[in-house]
Amino acid sequence: MNRYEAYLPILQSSLRELDDWRTQYGEEQLVGFTDTPQIIDIIQDLRERLEGNYPFHHPQYAGQMLKPPHPIAWIAYTMTMTVNPNNHALDGGPPTSEMEKEAVARLAEMVGYENPYLGHLTSGGTIANLEALFVAREIHPQKAIAASSKAHYTHRRMCRVLNTEFMEIPDTHDGGTDWNYLMENLDKVGTVVVTMGTTGLGDVEPLADLLPELNKHGVRVHVDAAYGGFFKIIGSQLPSSNHWASLNEADSIVIDPHKHGLQPYGCGSIMFKDPSVGSFFKHDSPYTYFTSDDLHLGEISLECSRAGASAAAFWATLQLFPLSEDGLGEYMTSTVTAAKLFYRLLERSDKFECFKEPELDILAYFPIPKDETLSSISKLSTALFQAGAEAAPKEGLHLSLYKLKAKEFNARFPEYKADDETVTLLRSVLMKPEHEPFVTKLAGRLHTLLDKL
Ligand SMILES: *Cc1c(COP(=O)(O)O)cnc(C)c1O
Repeated sequence: MNRYEAYLPILQSSLRELDDWRTQYGEEQLVGFTDTPQIIDIIQDLRERLEGNYPFHHPQYAGQMLKPPHPIAWIAYTMTMTVNPNNHALDGGPPTSEMEKEAVARLAEMVGYENPYLGHLTSGGTIANLEALFVAREIHPQKAIAASSKAHYTHRRMCRVLNTEFMEIPDTHDGGTDWNYLMENLDKVGTVVVTMGTTGLGDVEPLADLLPELNKHGVRVHVDAAYGGFFKIIGSQLPSSNHWASLNEADSIVIDPHKHGLQPYGCGSIMFKDPSVGSFFKHDSPYTYFTSDDLHLGEISLECSRAGASAAAFWATLQLFPLSEDGLGEYMTSTVTAAKLFYRLLERSDKFECFKEPELDILAYFPIPKDETLSSISKLSTALFQAGAEAAPKEGLHLSLYKLKAKEFNARFPEYKADDETVTLLRSVLMKPEHEPFVTKLAGRLHTLLDKL
């Protein structure tokens, strides 16, 4: 049976029952629901075009942060979007606005924020980070927002949008982050962005080590955990456990349910520890907000219309996978296990080397070239990346490439001749639960493809 077929009866009966609710308001003449032959043709075309995608569903896709949502999210989203509530305001979708508040309450519990806090879902991590930086600028209008070179590029760009100064914390000589430089320049800094789970290699920046000094100087701390946030569930088992334990001390936190929360795209979140920052979002609107005196979601968000379906999908998913070690935590553990296993397999091989041991579930590695030069690593990595993507569907391997500064690479591998300013490595995000049982095959395919080059 097709992987989605088992769920079709419940989707079908739920849509039928929703229709009963619709017709309580009286039968109407339906417009636009009749041209089925054409719809069928168009959907056929669409299906064919979708097959132009890489196999995001399959563990052989071990490239970027991409995977299909869990069926519970798919069903909840599909059903809800036929109603199409708008979580801009309570008027736009009373039930889904409630679901949003409930879902964000689970996220707040997970990070350790106590009531009252402020939080809501967003269309993604970029807009969620923009809100955090907007509040940061309102609080410290004359000071810079600082982030490491490993932070997501959105922070630098959003500082331009906000017309506020961005300070990139320089790298150390070996490519790490020079946190000492930050500490020596705190008088110029209003807010520091700490990334927990960098987009490149899944590094967890040392929140717990930075907090005392930042607190002492009244510097705000924004944690960008768009990718890594759900690792908090299993934080106590990770080498970065002390940093995860300090998460509740951050002033604001971004977490993307559409990355590790099993959701379709269109679901990020932002939380503020101090709810009074809601005053920065304050506005009067003659159009909306007539049903309740509660603070409306639209009053604490830069975005106006937002899909109630996203809230419904995330809410439903949390019913099935609570944010506990035996809930979503099992998925998170499985990804870390997969990455560790893949790391060990590659380390054992005399054909591959890992850039370093993964902290979460992202790994950078490279085929060992005959001559020890960076350009040969880049050439081999790129060739392997292409060979994997071009192989027959059942033998394929879909990876991503990762460019590193030569000095960062050479700090770990000084024996390689730096004949180029950068080196291109292979990168794999092992974020699917299907990866754990597949990593041995992944490593096998890497070797087979390399032998053929
Ligand atoms: C993905 C990501 C973002 C951007 O979020 P989108 O949901 O893609 O807009 C920001 N920061 C980090 C650390 C990320 O991994």
